Amino acid sequence: MRFDIVTLFPELFAPLLEAGVTRRAFESGLVDVRLWPLRDFAEGNYRRVDDRPFGGGPGMVMMAAPLAKCLQAIRAERGDAAPVVLFSPIGTRLDHAGVERWSASSGAVLVCGRYEGIDQRFIDAHVDMQVSLGDFVLSGGEIAAMALLDAVARLQPGVLNDEGSHQADSFNPALDGLLDCPHYTRPETWEGQAVPAALMSGHHAQIERWRREQRLDITARHRPDLIAAARAAGRLSAEDEAVLAQGPINRL
Ligand code: SAH
Repeated sequence: MRFDIVTLFPELFAPLLEAGVTRRAFESGLVDVRLWPLRDFAEGNYRRVDDRPFGGGPGMVMMAAPLAKCLQAIRAERGDAAPVVLFSPIGTRLDHAGVERWSASSGAVLVCGRYEGIDQRFIDAHVDMQVSLGDFVLSGGEIAAMALLDAVARLQPGVLNDEGSHQADSFNPALDGLLDCPHYTRPETWEGQAVPAALMSGHHAQIERWRREQRLDITARHRPDLIAAARAAGRLSAEDEAVLAQGPINRL
């Protein structure tokens, strides 16, 4: 898939594209990321991309014309009708289901806002959907774009070292959308605290049972809405319900 990023700060993306396990997805082109520096599409000596808001008030607004010109260049190069996504607090909050949809798509044009935001006329004319990272305000859409790209990249086959390991992660439908269980590594005892005995048992079924109980317990404590969703989807067994009926397991 291909993502075209419209941004005033293309340099912010370098660390994402060059570091960590997801680098493979970007370098191989599995997730093909093209950066479009918006200033290249601005007119005049000053290459202006923003101006003062009509009606007054603080801050600056990104002008529609450079954005439209940039989008035209992207469309000409892509040759498809990829959706135009604007990152904005207005948008639908990004979640696992959204990331899965993007990771199975042919990509999108991602527009990163800056300043007070972008001229509404560009949004009305060209934006197909708005995506939010959460109920807080960033100084730009770039971090939101990077969050989406990182989450999509790690779902691509062959990107994580352990094939399919993302299926054991939080929210994955493979584990009924529950949160992940706790993890432990060496040493066996750290500051007087031992690793849970089940994990040291060597019995696969016992380990899996312990992990399922922990997932159910943690999800019930922190995200009861996810338990309700799993239940409504018929994903909880009688054994799961028995674990939940016992109440919280004695651990934070
Ligand atoms: N005036 C706007 C905030 C502008 S912040 C408001 O009050 O809603 C500048 C840019 O950062 C936005 O145009 C958007 O692209 C990005 N941004 C800010 N918060 C975001 C969020 N929660 N999710 C996604 N993008 C966000």
